[in-house]
Amino acid sequence: NKFELLGLNTALLKAIEDMGFTEPSEVQEKAIPILLQEETDMVALAQTGTGKTAAFGFPLIQKINIDSKKTQGLILSPTRELCLQITNELQNYSKYARGLNTVAIYGGASITDQANQIKRGAQIIVATPGRMQDMVNRRLVDISSIDYCVLDEADEMLNMGFFEDITAILSHTPKEKSTWLFSATMPKEVSVIAKKFMNNPVEITV
Ligand code: AMP
Repeated sequence: NKFELLGLNTALLKAIEDMGFTEPSEVQEKAIPILLQEETDMVALAQTGTGKTAAFGFPLIQKINIDSKKTQGLILSPTRELCLQITNELQNYSKYARGLNTVAIYGGASITDQANQIKRGAQIIVATPGRMQDMVNRRLVDISSIDYCVLDEADEMLNMGFFEDITAILSHTPKEKSTWLFSATMPKEVSVIAKKFMNNPVEITV
């Protein structure tokens, strides 16, 4: 199995087999070994459909400490649909990682329900920036000790006007963490975010 060569553990390899993935995609081949082996920031230029969700999802799942219930990973994504899609994929990938909980946080749904889901223990949160910022402000979520932050479709999030929310959310996260930014394009605003919040990122392009 070619995924084994990337350094993925048995729980992930079993899930990958169930999903019928036989070969890593290009972005997966480039990103996964680096993200597994190093605590590093990364900027990845990759379009939707390239398998980017697994490129950050597999290493993130493997890095989570399941024995701890605290929130360790935060994924920001532009829309409710994408947020639910990523959550669904991550839950699939982690089906043999018992005790790993991924929760979706997005606008237009009950904030109380989402807060309750977080209270039960969510090591990974997948969120849209507006609702996330709202919940951070209301102290309904604690992201003060996350280890990993993924900015997915960064160009889309900035196009949609989420610069302020993203900046505010990131200011509540610890300085000592790894940030992985995925974007289809690299307009100025994306480089601004990368410069402001990332430290010497590894760059990959597919
Ligand atoms: P994404 O670019 O993350 O939106 O992924 C696009 C689609 O490709 C999703 O439906 C994934 O489940 C699927 N996919 C991701 N990686 C692989 C792979 N290595 N082999 C086959 N399908 C994959």
